[in-house]
Amino acid sequence: MTTKRKSLKSVNTIGKVGEKPDTKRSVPDIALVYCDLCTVRGGAIATVDLNKLSLPMTGKMFGSIDVDHGYPAPFDSRLEWRHFKCPRCPHRPFFDEKEISISKDNGLTHERYQVPTLQHRIDDEKE
Ligand SMILES: [Zn+2]
Repeated sequence: MTTKRKSLKSVNTIGKVGEKPDTKRSVPDIALVYCDLCTVRGGAIATVDLNKLSLPMTGKMFGSIDVDHGYPAPFDSRLEWRHFKCPRCPHRPFFDEKEISISKDNGLTHERYQVPTLQHRIDDEKE
C-alpha cells in the first residue's frame, strides 16, 4: 500500500466560486526549503511561500514542513537569516542570503532560488 502525500499546494489555493481571480501575488507558491550543509542526507527543513520571500529574510517567512503532525516552524519568527539554525545539522542553513536551495515539486528536483529584494517585490506590485 502506498501512502499518498498530501500536496503542499492544497492549502488556501482554491478560490470560492464566483470570486474574482486573485492577482498572482496573493496565491501561495509553496516550496520546500533545504539546508545548504545537510541537504544531501536530510530532507526539507522548512516550507516557504515564494510570493512572500524577499530580502532581508526573517524567520516568519518560513513555515513547518509538517503542520498536520504538529512540527513547529523551523526558525523563530523574529530572527534574521544569519541567526537561523538548521533543525537537522544544526548549523546556519544558508551560505548566502541571496540564494537558497528549494524544491517546487515536493522534493523530486532541487534548484537554487534567487531571493528577490523587497524593492523588486514592490515593483512587481505596481505593474
Ligand atoms: Zn542542516
